[in-house]
Amino acid sequence: MKTSSDPRRRVACYWAMGTAWLPFQGEIYKLSCVRVPPNTPFDSLFLIIINEFENKCLTLCRNFTIEPTCRVMTRKFDFLIIGSGVAGMSYALKVARAKKGKIAIVCKTTLEEANTAKAQGGIASVTNLLVDNFEKHIEDTMIAGDFISDREAVEQVVRNAPDGIRELVQWGVNFDKNDDGKFDLHKEGGHSEFRILHHADDTGAEIQRGLMAAVRSNPDIEVLEHHFAVEIITQHHLGVRVTRRTPDIECYGAYILNPETGKVDTYLSRVTIMATGGTGAIYATTSNPNIATGDGIAMVYRAKGKVQDMEFVQFHPTVLFNPKETHPAYLITEAMRGYGGILRLPNGEEFMQKYDERLSLAPRDIVARAIDKEMKIHGLDHVCLDVTHKDPEETKHHFPNIYAKCLSIGIDITKEYIPVCPSAHYMCGGIKVNLDGQSSIRRLYALGECSCTGLHGGNRLASNSLIEAVVYADAAAKHSIEEVDQYEFNEDVPEWNDEGTMTNEEKVLIAQDVKEVGQIMSTYVGIVRSDLRLHRAWERLDLLYEETEHLFKRVKPTRDICELRNMINVGYLITRQALERKESRGLHFTVDYAPHALDKK
Ligand SMILES: Cc1cc2nc3c(=O)[nH]c(=O)nc-3n(C[C@H](O)[C@H](O)[C@H](O)COP(=O)(O)OP(=O)(O)OC[C@H]3O[C@@H](n4cnc5c(N)ncnc54)[C@H](O)[C@@H]3O)c2cc1C
Repeated sequence: MKTSSDPRRRVACYWAMGTAWLPFQGEIYKLSCVRVPPNTPFDSLFLIIINEFENKCLTLCRNFTIEPTCRVMTRKFDFLIIGSGVAGMSYALKVARAKKGKIAIVCKTTLEEANTAKAQGGIASVTNLLVDNFEKHIEDTMIAGDFISDREAVEQVVRNAPDGIRELVQWGVNFDKNDDGKFDLHKEGGHSEFRILHHADDTGAEIQRGLMAAVRSNPDIEVLEHHFAVEIITQHHLGVRVTRRTPDIECYGAYILNPETGKVDTYLSRVTIMATGGTGAIYATTSNPNIATGDGIAMVYRAKGKVQDMEFVQFHPTVLFNPKETHPAYLITEAMRGYGGILRLPNGEEFMQKYDERLSLAPRDIVARAIDKEMKIHGLDHVCLDVTHKDPEETKHHFPNIYAKCLSIGIDITKEYIPVCPSAHYMCGGIKVNLDGQSSIRRLYALGECSCTGLHGGNRLASNSLIEAVVYADAAAKHSIEEVDQYEFNEDVPEWNDEGTMTNEEKVLIAQDVKEVGQIMSTYVGIVRSDLRLHRAWERLDLLYEETEHLFKRVKPTRDICELRNMINVGYLITRQALERKESRGLHFTVDYAPHALDKK
């Protein structure tokens, strides 16, 4: 044992085999030497350690990583829910009623940061039986899905939607009502009737608020914010070889990164729920917040679970083009085109007449495709939406938020064009589940945007996703409450092994790769596809995959490298499944295959 010669430093340092152990304020810290020049005299080494330690206090220093030697934890929950959007929280509230055991909701940032909070339009449900009925909603959904939706899933969502709405209201979510006390219903593209419940133009924020209040006040639900799920645990972690053909793969919980210790803890569960939301953030521009990196889909795919329909990515035609704000990019509502907004090239030329007789009022996917094509032909990074011909006061009155937002970046929309571009918006595919929300892996359910219930088929009908999450949360809650008693915690699961890994000092590698994934996906796997572009994406992603897996094995897991891995995995899945679909269908549009070509075979 060596002690500092400086009496003010009340520390002692143990030195053995390249590692120093430093007791400090009641904790023992491990100081791993990295790249210390050979033959460094012990005294100078020792002083460097002390100085660096005191100066930077537990942060990375040039030659050493400093980390507490606290042990990893194992925690047990009967119901482990990964994700705190509408899917995860409504499931938690439902199982909490059954008093069947401990429940945890894990989310990678705060409880509120979720796609759910961004939803603007509303939530679809047949509530006015005087003019509407379930058959009409079912038919509208089938048409939007380009006739490849799973009819049973569609019926389940549509017929149970009114109950889902009632539950949301019971949990404290408010929807706007008319003077006569009935829901104020909107109509959106693709719906044959007025059936969209809403809360002003921030329905998602209201749902998130209501559910968060209910979850926080429920003593049976433990909320773990800033906890990042790294992998789900299966037989693979017990040393069993698991392949895509292995029957009865089981989920025993998840490995979760603890923000306080930087360690990966083991969370054992009897039932695990994947509710990790969408994948928009793997594209260069998206309406989704940064959290939407497809983590759940990637984790389940790596665990050899079934993932389906990933080629169906919905793009919103018009977000504000602003390179400083891409995740999420600011949505320019389609109502602006309804109001009379005209799409133009930056030189003022109109172009929609080349694509659809309804011009700028054509449906979302046609407009998105037309903009994408014009951008590619002219090498542009955006086109423009023009409302300068409209009465300025009326524009400000109808779109006060858009007016203010654009003004904040120096654009007065009453006098100047709004720069817009399409952006990734919604993932129709995901973890394949049955009518009970069960995935192909036993004890693992998937809910919300990360799941593929079959409801959306080739394209999502507006406002059908929030209600899908609520209805499937109910089905999964009922099923898992019935099943949970037959499952035991698996006590043989080993701790996460990060022996021999080091702290990653090269953050720039990850930041650059994240950018590259976005560029690859937006350029080659975007709105209009071809086999050539998809193959090019595949090759580029493959290279990134190899590099990232190599890095992942060498460094301690952090949120950024885990997300990068997931983004590459999800990018690969979208690309591969797009290549496999040899037709244009729904949201998957390719110049190489005719619409519905597979029907003719
Ligand atoms: C701008 C916008 C407008 C929309 N408008 C509508 C609309 O009007 N109507 C409609 O029906 N739908 C709309 N949608 C779609 C809808 O909002 C989403 O599909 C839905 O909210 C998804 O809910 P979710 O619970 O599945 O996921 P989310 O709400 O995205 O929640 C995901 C959760 O998973 C957590 N998570 C992710 N990865 C990890 C990890 N590795 N570890 C721990 N936690 C993790 C996140 O922290 C988050 O808590 C819109 C979406 C956007 C972006």
